[in-house]
Amino acid sequence: MSTTIATKCVHIPADKDVKDVYGAMSYPIYQSATFAHPGVGQSTGYDYSRASNPTREYLERTVAALENGSDALAFTTGMAAITLLMELFKPGDHLVIDSDLYGGSIRLFQYVSEKNGISFTKVNASRGEVEAAIRPETKAVFLETPSNPTMRVTDLEELSGITRAHNLLLIVDNTFLSPYFQNPLDLGADVVVHSGTKYLGGHNDTLAGFLVTKDTEIAEKLRFLQKTTGATLPPFDSFLITRGIKTLAVRMDRANASAGRIAEWLRERPEVTKVYYPGFADHPGHDVMRKQARGFGAMISFELRDKDFALALLERVNVISYAESLGGVETLLTYPYTQTHADVPEDERIANGITDRLLRISIGIEDADDLIADLEQAFAAASK
Ligand SMILES: *Cc1c(COP(=O)(O)O)cnc(C)c1O
Repeated sequence: MSTTIATKCVHIPADKDVKDVYGAMSYPIYQSATFAHPGVGQSTGYDYSRASNPTREYLERTVAALENGSDALAFTTGMAAITLLMELFKPGDHLVIDSDLYGGSIRLFQYVSEKNGISFTKVNASRGEVEAAIRPETKAVFLETPSNPTMRVTDLEELSGITRAHNLLLIVDNTFLSPYFQNPLDLGADVVVHSGTKYLGGHNDTLAGFLVTKDTEIAEKLRFLQKTTGATLPPFDSFLITRGIKTLAVRMDRANASAGRIAEWLRERPEVTKVYYPGFADHPGHDVMRKQARGFGAMISFELRDKDFALALLERVNVISYAESLGGVETLLTYPYTQTHADVPEDERIANGITDRLLRISIGIEDADDLIADLEQAFAAASK
């Protein structure tokens, strides 16, 4: 039976061999490093937990189902997933990447992948700059849409036409929208990346990362690399992310609705000089987003009139916390300039709008009126 995504979050598609034998509603935590063999040359299906573990596999099947992939691999963190993905490439290979990415991805590419002989060209993918940057040695395109933190939106179907024509992998970090709002594999992407720490886990209590694909050849390569390098998600953390996913749909619906209201509120404030939110009808990516996503997400970036005002706000919020990260039940206010994007070179930060007066807010599931009231009082206090 085919079900909608909200149902898939709660029940992974009926699959007898991953149901618990006792009918436990909550899939058990198989906290075991190894598994006994029934006989020589025989296996229960599990041999050693670095290679595979039932609790992790249950989670992986869930995430694969949510992204319409054939396989999903769970890692200890989002960065571990992206680091593993880079093992698909070899010295001399070149990637075209969007210039507005999670700061940790830029740091990985610049300080680790480049040392390993892989080169990168940064472009603004939302402005159609990818094709001109492709070289004979280009192997892949890596981007986020909407991008982090300035919410640039790239038409994935259009871009996948270009990557197909040039025989390149299209890799999309889908952390900001989660599979509930966007499914890049359906739009032509080859690999989807998630920081499971964010919306999938959803409670700011567990780190995790995923790679999802529907290409069996890529899946096989990734499985081999993951088993070999070892950053697989432990059983207990797999359980926590599975539990988080059960409420993904209701969390996303609530946060999405509140974000629309808060973005409007921010836009009316005289102290706010710019609001980056793709739900605005005049956002340049609005129509593309309506076409390729089912929601605008719950991330908003906004620029204040000056740095001091931005810093004062961080210290004046009460219900909202000043913290790095996103996608959890708690609303978090982040200062990308010195937090998430600190390692992006200064000139690039400024060129991308990541100034010292930009804040990013991840809307949680608190009551929207309470969040707006908290912002009201913080703006008033910061003005003094
Ligand atoms: C947080 C984040 C990552 C990294 O994930 P971790 O789980 O923190 O390692 C990658 N991409 C995006 C878009 C993120 O927000």
